Amino acid sequence: MLRMMDQQARDLVKAIFPPGDVSDEPEDILAYGFDATGNECAPELVAFPRSPEQVSETLKLANERGFTVTARGAGTGFVGASIPVRHGVALVMTRMNRILEIDRDNFTALVEPGLVTGQFQKEVEKLGLFYPPDPASLNVSTLGGNIAMGAGGPRAVKYGVTRDYTLGLEVVLPTGEIIQTGARTVKSVVGYDFTRLMVGSEGTLGIITKIRLRLLPKPDVVRTMLAMFGSVNDSAMAVAAITKEGIIPRTLEFMDKNSVTAVEKYIGAGLPADAEALLLIETDGAKELAEKEINMIKKICSQLNATQLRVARDEAERETLWKARRSLSQAISRISPTKINEDITVPRSKIPDLISKLSELADKVNLPIVNFGHAGDGNIHVNVMTDKNNKEEYARALGAVDEIFAICLALGGTISGEHGIGLEKARYLESEIGKAGIDLIKRVKIAFDPNDILNPGKITPEGV
Ligand SMILES: Cc1cc2nc3c(=O)[nH]c(=O)nc-3n(C[C@H](O)[C@H](O)[C@H](O)COP(=O)(O)OP(=O)(O)OC[C@H]3O[C@@H](n4cnc5c(N)ncnc54)[C@H](O)[C@@H]3O)c2cc1C
Repeated sequence: MLRMMDQQARDLVKAIFPPGDVSDEPEDILAYGFDATGNECAPELVAFPRSPEQVSETLKLANERGFTVTARGAGTGFVGASIPVRHGVALVMTRMNRILEIDRDNFTALVEPGLVTGQFQKEVEKLGLFYPPDPASLNVSTLGGNIAMGAGGPRAVKYGVTRDYTLGLEVVLPTGEIIQTGARTVKSVVGYDFTRLMVGSEGTLGIITKIRLRLLPKPDVVRTMLAMFGSVNDSAMAVAAITKEGIIPRTLEFMDKNSVTAVEKYIGAGLPADAEALLLIETDGAKELAEKEINMIKKICSQLNATQLRVARDEAERETLWKARRSLSQAISRISPTKINEDITVPRSKIPDLISKLSELADKVNLPIVNFGHAGDGNIHVNVMTDKNNKEEYARALGAVDEIFAICLALGGTISGEHGIGLEKARYLESEIGKAGIDLIKRVKIAFDPNDILNPGKITPEGV
């Protein structure tokens, strides 16, 4: 049975770690109890492991003493997955942040889970290598958190997501055993594919302590372009025409009018006030090919009534164009105090239908709905802007979320493209995977974690 930690349990956990790596100081308890959703619940103890053995000992103790353990990376999650809802120990993985090996001959790397994604990308790029997954949080979020959440990003349209680069893992099971999954080779079919099961399992099936990642050669050049449109439909037609032409851009990002206005107010990026939609498009690869493709895309956008086209001439201009996209999350937070941020995904061809239905919904509930995201793979971030303190308005906003998921599923989509389920979307899970799907998740969870001590209360509505 799960219970709060008594003094003896606290002392036993403290004995696993050297003094500077474990804390029950109020500031640590406060700092590690929330994530980017703003939800919070305090752990009773915070520990910063440096080895799989420390993780293993903590988990074994948790089973013996009945307290819970929750792994945590940078706490940037958007669904409450790292919040220790039953208190216990928060295991903050950020001190296990070394690059253990970069194997240039075999295009792989072995890293620890607390390594910040953007830092890893910079290191491999120095060697002419490339790690494509690029969540917008990459300068803060950790590779362990990315794997646990199955993170995606703008480059998914061409290169896929974190899952596609995870070759193998070292995992401490909730019962304390340490296992290796996958292999250091691209091919491996030995037993069940536990690597894939761990990706997106939101820290409920085990704690990742080492990661073997696949790398690619770094593309020679990247070309970046902004295209502004006077209608959402024209921008959606451009997306369809680009892919129909056989071009797979490196990124194909979409921002609606509300997003453009919010960014302009926030950073003054020089975006036109009358743009109804914006596409941020990149091509990459060998110089001639990237150049040829960006010119073809330019032509397609012009033919589809783009009102303005801007191609970055150098790295500095490229960064300026990306600043508009990367500042979006903060920019739209200024529209109203509360942002309900969903990351639904529909088949690419359904984006115009989705945007038009969302616009009808915004009128119906009389609230701003801001849409942006990865048009290239149909993953649109839908943000219902509201104020949590205004009870009537907030209830209307939550009603809008119910409708957003219903619209998404009716269009053949999925309720989360990259942010996961956590606490926030647990009650919607059944609408997508059914009761039998939920029962199976619970059975898998019990097989891994019979005492439900690892990150309980996540994914399924009422835990196991
Ligand atoms: C501004 C902003 C932009 C974002 N953009 C994107 C985006 O483009 N794409 C995207 O996919 N997400 C995005 N996110 C969401 C978030 O950054 C990702 O979910 C990210 O992968 C979380 O990583 P983290 O290190 O912060 O993990 P945390 O939030 O700390 O933890 C997330 C989950 O991972 C588990 N976990 C962490 N480390 C381990 C480990 N070593 N072993 C097992 N489980 C572990 C935790 O228990 C928890 O369940 C964004 C968030 C913000 C704030």
